[in-house]
Amino acid sequence: MQIQRCTVCNSEQVSILKAYEKHKLTKCTECSMVFAWDIPDSRELIAHYEEYGRDDYKSPITVKRYREILSKFEHARSLNRILDIGCGMGFFLEVAQELNWKTYGTEYTETAVENCRQKDITMFKGDLSEINFGELTFDVITCIEVIEHIQDLHSFISGIKKILRPGGLLYLTTPNIRSLNSRMLKEDWNVLCYPEHLSYFSKKSLNKLLESNSFEKLFLVSDGVSPERLLTSIKRKTVDHSTSENKDEKLRIQLEKNSFLKTVKRMVNGLLNTLNLGESLKGLYRFTHDDRILP
Ligand SMILES: [Zn+2]
Repeated sequence: MQIQRCTVCNSEQVSILKAYEKHKLTKCTECSMVFAWDIPDSRELIAHYEEYGRDDYKSPITVKRYREILSKFEHARSLNRILDIGCGMGFFLEVAQELNWKTYGTEYTETAVENCRQKDITMFKGDLSEINFGELTFDVITCIEVIEHIQDLHSFISGIKKILRPGGLLYLTTPNIRSLNSRMLKEDWNVLCYPEHLSYFSKKSLNKLLESNSFEKLFLVSDGVSPERLLTSIKRKTVDHSTSENKDEKLRIQLEKNSFLKTVKRMVNGLLNTLNLGESLKGLYRFTHDDRILP
């Protein structure tokens, strides 16, 4: 089945991206959203996610970044509950537990759910729309590299609004379709992948989706550049994230150790953000729960 309207702004001003045919992409000229025009059938998706493996190496630098992200949620701590949608191996929530959050997660497969339960994370299995949370609500909901997998974006965000308390925070990260790598590599950008990824955001389209759903932006940045992703995309190889042996990780360790390089990295990220060219979009939004604009 072909989607005829923009999945963010509902405009009919959409056109198929001819150079991206193998990824089945359409672009909205109104809000710049890029999305898969074909809806994969659920059997295709389930088969895909049974095979889906998350990184199983918990990098110390990633843990440090997680602590920095979590520090931005402190002002919203009231119920003391945080939910990570598509929590993978539960690494982010493990760091949240160190900070005394009550942790909740969702995942698709029994293996992932069981693995996270072993870590004392309260787990829900399946799609957000199918899960019964009862009366549970959260101070913070995080979606780290998740929303690009979603096609029906407004119902996904509606699901979040039902369980996020008024004034609660939503933190999202997703690849930036306007990034330097995306622009240089075009259809060879190794983030592009049907049916795994169905929605590709720019700052503009992500902000539009959230602001039209009663979320107020606290920040939205595009930062990070992955030199190895660029190289491997050119070579058409996949990066193994499971050990610290990949070149990006080595580079990250070098950057952490050297204060001059850290300053350079901060400047590069600042420049990428100013130019909207960073590899990843990272946004923090507050749910304003404005009943006047709810249906
Ligand atoms: Zn649009």
